[in-house]
Amino acid sequence: MTDGGSLFPTSVVGSLPRPEWLMDGIAANERGALSDERLREYYDEAVVLALKQQETAGVDELSDGEQRRFSFLAFVAERIPSFRLVPAARLMNKEAAGYAEDMNLHVGIISNPVIVGQIRRTAPLVAEEVGFARKHTDRPVMAPVIGPFTLLINSWNRRMSGRYYPAPEDAFGDLTRLLREEILALKEAGASFVQLDEPAIGNFVDFRYTRWLLALNGWKVGDVQELHRISAELINRTVKGVGGIKLGVHICRGNWKSDEAHYSRGGYEHMIDEILAMKVQRLVLEYATKRAGSFDVFREHPWPGEIGLGVIDVKSPRVETPREIVARVERAAKVFGEERLVLNPDCGFSSGRPWPVVSRRTAFAKLKAQTEAAKLLRQIHS
Ligand SMILES: [Zn+2]
Repeated sequence: MTDGGSLFPTSVVGSLPRPEWLMDGIAANERGALSDERLREYYDEAVVLALKQQETAGVDELSDGEQRRFSFLAFVAERIPSFRLVPAARLMNKEAAGYAEDMNLHVGIISNPVIVGQIRRTAPLVAEEVGFARKHTDRPVMAPVIGPFTLLINSWNRRMSGRYYPAPEDAFGDLTRLLREEILALKEAGASFVQLDEPAIGNFVDFRYTRWLLALNGWKVGDVQELHRISAELINRTVKGVGGIKLGVHICRGNWKSDEAHYSRGGYEHMIDEILAMKVQRLVLEYATKRAGSFDVFREHPWPGEIGLGVIDVKSPRVETPREIVARVERAAKVFGEERLVLNPDCGFSSGRPWPVVSRRTAFAKLKAQTEAAKLLRQIHS
């Protein structure tokens, strides 16, 4: 459980929908009608608002709502010059186009941070976000950070990165050092929890999206199972020797639009070996969506740490009732143990511009339902 000591603490996964005035401000800045300095004030105000709304909704562990990030992945290129944001459409080839068509993937909305130089932490990635947020709330602030495996398979492109790192594995050392240095800075900044976002591990349930990415970036992987091994290795290299701060991994299966028909689906049994190999203290898992499968695999393969249990479907506009969340948590408690559970939504609410999934009003109503459920659960289990 989190440090407060009570059962069923509530948290978030990261992003919250951004207010319309912030989107307008970003657009105005892009066409030169709003200064960078003024836009920074907009961002500051949006973060303060996101914190206050989470407090009002009763969330125990807050995030800054990722209000300053284009997306959970792309923001790396906004902060570190070793990466450049490149539209996926510009990297496309025939093989990648075939996979995209098969998944009904809207390539036009995807941009990846591609490695275009030796990876070095020349600026903070996330630590400043946490530092700012902590000045505006007394509650614990968690820090979502892109995970090393998801970053690597999105960022190593043979044509653009090969000059600096001839093969993906040549980038392992620098990439994990970048993230480890960031984690140490987050510890310094007072983050309550560092969450490595790894949707690419979630996509092990079926390899369509991964095959598309690998084709897009010119990877030569004979056996995609090799990626399973790499994923846990990269996480463990990233967290090696880091102590004194809670670390976790968030696994999900995609979050770019509300239509779920083409998202990957399947349970954690597809990646259980990697999960059990990860040297982290909390797993943040989707479970509100039926696409995430059942708890069964964890009956046979117990996870010894905390479980950030997804109890809110971030893609459905319907607000869950506290009672149905309670029922979901009670089922999970039988498998994981009530003392290990943290309640959170399945994923972030997606602050990315082209793909808001649910409205801000709905997102906060859902967080409130999560709080009400936690209260009920504490009454039942007191
Ligand atoms: Zn997610």
